[in-house]
Amino acid sequence: MKDSPSRHRQNSNGPEVPKFRGEKRKRYEALLSLRDELYDQVKDLSSSSLVNSREAGEDLADIGSDNFSRDMGLTLMSEEGKRIALIQDAIQRLIEGDYGECIDCGTKIGSGRLDAIPYAKLCIKCKTFREDNEGMPPEGGSEELTE
Ligand SMILES: [Zn+2]
Repeated sequence: MKDSPSRHRQNSNGPEVPKFRGEKRKRYEALLSLRDELYDQVKDLSSSSLVNSREAGEDLADIGSDNFSRDMGLTLMSEEGKRIALIQDAIQRLIEGDYGECIDCGTKIGSGRLDAIPYAKLCIKCKTFREDNEGMPPEGGSEELTE
């Protein structure tokens, strides 16, 4: 709990600062703070595993403790990295205007679901469908992976 959600940052997201209002703004801010949180986790993992492997020396060498710190590419393969990619994607959809619509059936995703998972791409119905069908979309649906 070191971060306050109301903290304002400058300059951390490049030149592109979309001006969202109302609902969109709320989602955008939720996505940004979630992304920051994940970045911090990735950073913590990287630095703590570095410290651990240095301090513990050879003892930890064979449990792969340096997996996270080897490079950013590997870090991005992690669970956090995947979620960061989903968040970036959701921000892109906010900008393009199709955020909050199910990529399979096109209905609006419930706001309760977006509160819980701001980067959700599927409505709960299609999400459940995919879970029952090994991740495959319904006929005619998109083939993008779900969260
Ligand atoms: Zn759907």
